[in-house]
Amino acid sequence: MKYFAKELEHLERWKGLRADLFRNEEPAIRLIGMTTPTPEIAELGVTTETLPAYTARQSHESEGTYEDDLKLNRKLISWEHLTCLEAAQFVYYVTGVSKSLAGQWTRHRIGIGWTFRSTRYVKASKNMFIYPALEYLDSEDAVLAALEVYQREHLHAMDVYEELKNMGVRNQELRRLMPVGWSTAAYVYVNARSLRHFFNLRLDKSAEWEIRRLAYLMFNDAMATAPTLFEDLLTEGA
Ligand SMILES: Cc1cc2nc3c(=O)[nH]c(=O)nc-3n(C[C@H](O)[C@H](O)[C@H](O)COP(=O)(O)OP(=O)(O)OC[C@H]3O[C@@H](n4cnc5c(N)ncnc54)[C@H](O)[C@@H]3O)c2cc1C
Repeated sequence: MKYFAKELEHLERWKGLRADLFRNEEPAIRLIGMTTPTPEIAELGVTTETLPAYTARQSHESEGTYEDDLKLNRKLISWEHLTCLEAAQFVYYVTGVSKSLAGQWTRHRIGIGWTFRSTRYVKASKNMFIYPALEYLDSEDAVLAALEVYQREHLHAMDVYEELKNMGVRNQELRRLMPVGWSTAAYVYVNARSLRHFFNLRLDKSAEWEIRRLAYLMFNDAMATAPTLFEDLLTEGA
């Protein structure tokens, strides 16, 4: 983790205490696809990262090298000429996030979409849980005590699940009794402009911890893929 490492480390300070809890799952992201120029355009040196600048050259009918396009990306962002950033689309596979996070994430409406694991068609009997970070508590004993309460409730949720299942109740009703800390997984389809908006709102300290943790992971991946499209969002010291 290169960026926001200190922030992430702070959020992860009690990760070791969660490791052996009942069905604990930690978040993970994997970039599985992104827009790439067609062979004819790639031959000109255009990449996923420079596709926004390359298409923006339409406005002045200008030409430029790969390096020029990296510079132009930065200018476009500073001018807020952001539509061309929609040229680059990313597909991530995200696991180990809660239903609570999904509720917040799906409030983002523009340039982003998801396919979540269905709780109607996939049985919950092996479902995992996302335990809270509790990074603001300083006593290990206090954290352990709180995590045990979460564990107890997760065990209870699964007991209730089995009890109702044995009564013939179907998945779509069984899911109603699951806590919002229940884990889910999704493919997310998002363009660079929308991803920047997500980062703007969710890398901020005021964002809720779990979605902020996801934003840190995605930001690091996005910076490895197309730095000129995201680097201005780095805050001082991050
Ligand atoms: C720290 C934080 C706390 C929050 N707390 C709460 C809370 O307590 N309760 C709650 O309900 N939500 C809360 N939210 C969610 C927030 O209100 C937004 O719904 C969410 O962040 C998505 O942002 P967005 O609408 O800008 O994103 P998108 O839906 O992706 O929209 C992107 C942009 O497109 C434009 N846009 C989109 N739709 C329209 C439209 N219909 N009309 C005009 N312009 C549009 C806007 O410029 C918008 O910023 C919180 C968010 C944050 C970051």
